[in-house]
Amino acid sequence: MEQFVQNLADGLGETKARIYTALKRLSLVEVVEQPHKHWESTQKGARYLKETHKEKLVALIKEQLEAMDDPYLGPPPVIQRKTCRNCHRTMFKHDFGVSEKNADGLTKWCLDCLMEYNESQHYGAF
Ligand SMILES: [Zn+2]
Repeated sequence: MEQFVQNLADGLGETKARIYTALKRLSLVEVVEQPHKHWESTQKGARYLKETHKEKLVALIKEQLEAMDDPYLGPPPVIQRKTCRNCHRTMFKHDFGVSEKNADGLTKWCLDCLMEYNESQHYGAF
């Protein structure tokens, strides 16, 4: 493992630490504490390093290194969803109305259901 990473680092003109970090981001290695703190390949890593062409692995590592260097690349956005109390579909927050009565600031029903309800109220009365 150590020699493998050293070779990759030499080949890419990178430090070993950065190669390990890139491999960690790919879930191919992990830090093991016992008997002393060191890197070990994960199950995925062991399989991957055996079966994957070196060129493909190098491309994946480069991609990770670039992502690590990109200051604009923050954590992935948290997509908040909510389940409609009426139709029980789980949808994005923007599929709901705004309501100050509820803790999350959204209506309990989705906009589709609200609209349908409003229409039925409007026309159903006559
Ligand atoms: Zn609904």
